[in-house]
Amino acid sequence: MRLEQIYPAVRKFVTHVTQIKQEQGYWVALDESYFYPESGGQPADRGTLNGLVVHDVQLTDGIVWHQIDQPIEGSVTGLVDDVVRTDHAAQHTAQHVISAILQDEFNIKTLSFRTGSEESTLDIETDEWTAALQTRLEKRLRQVITSALPITATEYDEAAALALPLRKTPQVTGKIRVVQIGELDYSACGGTHLESTADLELIVLTGQERIRGNIRLMYVAKDRAFDLLAANQRVLRETAQALSAKKERVAQAVEELKQDVVRLNRAVELVQDAHIKAELTQLLASSDDWIFVNHAEQHVSFSEKMVKAIATADRVGLVWNEPAKKLLMQGASSIHFGKFAKTHLKTFNGRGGGSEHVAQAMFLTRDDAMAYIERMKEEQSK
Ligand SMILES: [Zn+2]
Repeated sequence: MRLEQIYPAVRKFVTHVTQIKQEQGYWVALDESYFYPESGGQPADRGTLNGLVVHDVQLTDGIVWHQIDQPIEGSVTGLVDDVVRTDHAAQHTAQHVISAILQDEFNIKTLSFRTGSEESTLDIETDEWTAALQTRLEKRLRQVITSALPITATEYDEAAALALPLRKTPQVTGKIRVVQIGELDYSACGGTHLESTADLELIVLTGQERIRGNIRLMYVAKDRAFDLLAANQRVLRETAQALSAKKERVAQAVEELKQDVVRLNRAVELVQDAHIKAELTQLLASSDDWIFVNHAEQHVSFSEKMVKAIATADRVGLVWNEPAKKLLMQGASSIHFGKFAKTHLKTFNGRGGGSEHVAQAMFLTRDDAMAYIERMKEEQSK
């Protein structure tokens, strides 16, 4: 076992540098280290060596390397960041507990796990995860936490380890480190753990997703769980305020708003249709084949309806929508709108296109659009 595995409580130590290498900063190996290197799905410790920040800790060929910004030599004082160590240990210990309950009581195997920087994940071998299962698991997690089960790590000879009710066949041979959580869990594991399930304080299951036919559960434990609940509470309070609703009525208030939007949209459509009908009657009074309409502030959807209505009345509609800086063209004429756009739009700083009878183009200014229309009219009168 490595030193941090034998003495998990050590946060400060004095030792000396044995090796140094340069590779994206500097990496030093120490005579003795109590830093946990990234392994087994658990992130590395953080901390300092002679006051220099340790950015990463990696294990290569049995040597623990510490990444720092400057070279150091000789005597070294190492400090392991207790907050980070405890946080990582909490997320990882929660994984042991969840996996043990799922395997023994739900008959669901854990396929893989990952301690994330926000949420941690657990991929489990099942094709469905129901609200009833979730409630059952949450209840059991609370029981395990309040039971304050002791957590120990012991090194056994292989034969002795294999005689224990291990949750998974160990991947190592020889001496095997077994982490025991009361009678709940025996696992061969090299990671960092809390000392009691009571130290987990709270585990919150934060979500689930389907992944390659199985289920991925997300969770947070200890401080992360309390922080998340506080953040969620804040969001809920702000949302309730914005909706002028009570917190427990937020979902209902959103649903009512959505229904209001649907009703309003229908009402707007009716008004638009009536408006278009009235305006169209006036426009069609003109004997011109080409009818130009200027929409200075209308929504572009209104302009789209208008140009379509003009074309349906067998005229050629040209509708300029000022807010969208868009010219809509529709109707049968001697001009192929799409081809004409392809050849001439660029000259008028426009971009767009279309087919023979329907096209649209964006222009930088209304003047450009007007000049483009003039050019089309010239072409048409040829
Ligand atoms: Zn572990």
